[in-house]
Amino acid sequence: MCGDCCFATVVSCIGCCYGSHKVAGSRAPSNDEEGPRPSSKHPKKSPPSPTDPTKAPKPLRKTHQPAHQTILAALSQPPTPLQLHALTRLRTAYATPLPTPLKPTHLTPITADLLAALIPTPLHSHITILWATLPRSLLGLTQPTSFSRHGVASVTIKLNRRMLRRGRREEIWGALVHELCHAWLDLEGGWGALVGGGHGVVFERVCEGVVARLGIGGLGVGEVV
Ligand SMILES: [Zn+2]
Ligand SMILES: [Zn+2]
Repeated sequence: MCGDCCFATVVSCIGCCYGSHKVAGSRAPSNDEEGPRPSSKHPKKSPPSPTDPTKAPKPLRKTHQPAHQTILAALSQPPTPLQLHALTRLRTAYATPLPTPLKPTHLTPITADLLAALIPTPLHSHITILWATLPRSLLGLTQPTSFSRHGVASVTIKLNRRMLRRGRREEIWGALVHELCHAWLDLEGGWGALVGGGHGVVFERVCEGVVARLGIGGLGVGEVV
């Protein structure tokens, strides 16, 4: 986890770290506006007694399985025909030089195929990917954008527009896949994703699993300086 972009946010690092973090004082935008709010729908009438076993609060997580185990299990399944087609297109795309000048639309099919090849279909509509003006030190940023009672319900991946100008294949693919790993962990991780996010061992294992599935050498997905 970085010390520049994470500590000032409400939650700990949730994917704001891809890049070198060399610009002092750079920090992720606050999620204050979008965080879960205390519910006003349930005024204080008759709260359940904490000693009543029939009123025990339900777990917030969808499953008790840690998010990375869910993800690694999905990645260990044989690819479906649709996933295989996406993987084939991705390997061809990676071997093809990027157009110059590079436009976001050039990368739309790659983004769609990365989603198709890696991430379970029900999660696709919960992930928004856009190009944004970001601090020089950040290649990408993944932020929760909505919450359900289970935790993070949707995320937005912001990719640094500077990467378009530079047009470096490894940088763009690396940042994109890195942020997709954050997004997947956020969406699978329940509320735990907000306190357990960042770039620890779990994140690295997910990155490794994703890179192995892609079968594309030279992707620096897990690298954080
Ligand atoms: Zn990151
Ligand atoms: Zn960070």
